[in-house]
Amino acid sequence: MRRVVLLLLASLLLLGAVVVTRTFLLRSPAVAFTPAPPRAFDEARVAAVLGAAIRAATISPQSGEHAGPAFAELSALLTASFPRTFTTLAVETIDEASLLLRWQGADPALPPLLLLAHQDVVPVADAEKWAQAPFSGAIVDGFVWGRGALDDKGPLVAMLTAVEALLAEAWVPQRDVLFAFGHDEELGGRGAQAMATLLAARGVRPALILDEGLAVLDGVAPGVQRPVGVVGVAEKGYLSLELVARAEGGHSSMPDREPAIAILARAVSRASAPLPARFDGPGFAMLRALAPELSFSTRMAIANRELFSPLLERQLADNPVTDASLRTTVAPTMIAGGIKDNVVAPVATAVLNFRLFPGDTRAWVLAETERRIADRRVTVRPFDDFGSEASSVSPAGGWGFEVVARSLRETLPDVLVAPGLVLGATDARHYAQLSDQVLRFAAFRLRPEDLARVHGRDERIPIADLAWAVRFYARLIENASR
Ligand SMILES: [Zn+2]
Repeated sequence: MRRVVLLLLASLLLLGAVVVTRTFLLRSPAVAFTPAPPRAFDEARVAAVLGAAIRAATISPQSGEHAGPAFAELSALLTASFPRTFTTLAVETIDEASLLLRWQGADPALPPLLLLAHQDVVPVADAEKWAQAPFSGAIVDGFVWGRGALDDKGPLVAMLTAVEALLAEAWVPQRDVLFAFGHDEELGGRGAQAMATLLAARGVRPALILDEGLAVLDGVAPGVQRPVGVVGVAEKGYLSLELVARAEGGHSSMPDREPAIAILARAVSRASAPLPARFDGPGFAMLRALAPELSFSTRMAIANRELFSPLLERQLADNPVTDASLRTTVAPTMIAGGIKDNVVAPVATAVLNFRLFPGDTRAWVLAETERRIADRRVTVRPFDDFGSEASSVSPAGGWGFEVVARSLRETLPDVLVAPGLVLGATDARHYAQLSDQVLRFAAFRLRPEDLARVHGRDERIPIADLAWAVRFYARLIENASR
């Protein structure tokens, strides 16, 4: 008996030693870098150009609608503001208002770099509540204000300013640098689709495609003091399923034991229970990258995930953002049934919206939902044609990721770089077939108070952040050129 106890004790000690060692081994990699040399450009002018770009109110044209005069205004503004860029680069207008630019590199054998941004913005519902009018492009208190300042005109203007500055130095890229600026990203990206199809037909295979998606998070990740450049290596897919429950209808004074609404209610409840968490994807990869900055106990749980995964899962599920980064989410979004308070409805319907984790296919989610409901009185079918599989996952150790990470470290002191999962949809998905390195990161910084500004009220960008974005994109183009 004593031997058994001793053996048990020894195993426990060994386990403890392994757990602690693995925790200490999880460190931030030491990355040597030198700051990029300062690049001269007129910061006040960049802010003024962005302000003017915001005043061209390019609200996404609804399907079937033409791109309005605001798009022509924006295009004229960009052409006038970046004269070197628009004369040196080949410029094509695709699908009415999308812009495709090509900067020819010195070595035609190298695969190009493709940078994406979109010209359109979402509408504003509460203009009277904004501190500055949403389409004023006002420059007040060191910020450029207005719809699109962050999403996505700030990054777009920063990219073009970077090109203009490099051209002013007579700098020539080694590889082609392409820019594709869609005009209806917020509505699904028909322009992006057209440009991607054209590039595919031309046999263009970019070494790296960089679109918006994630950003620099500053004080947003709990417990992390340093700014974190989160670079999206994948984006979630989209699927809505409709559940239809059928039963006997009739008078509510003599109801059937299980009317359609009750059947539907149980089905919705079963189908909206959380789907399994995935610890092998980009969501957990982000946590691993941030772990060295976190508390000892969190670091221990992450470093020894096999041992602590139920605990870890419970902790991460508490926060909707971390929860959504680890699994396919499901949200009941619509429900209908019944016409009168004393008539038993024979049919009741509900819609569930899923955001698919990479690897969880639409077919799997449909089958899994049917399995969970397990009731033949309920049919499950796709709600509409609008859906997409999750993207493939680009390598976080690949050449493209390294170029982005290096450009971040060289322009933003103290930054941490982590891979991440984009929870929404971007234009990047239309280009997925062109490259195996598709990354999603736009150069702006989000502080906790900024999280609601994208698509929300008081969207604005600090002029200092805009200037950093110019330095970042210039450095990115240079680093990709080597
Ligand atoms: Zn956007």
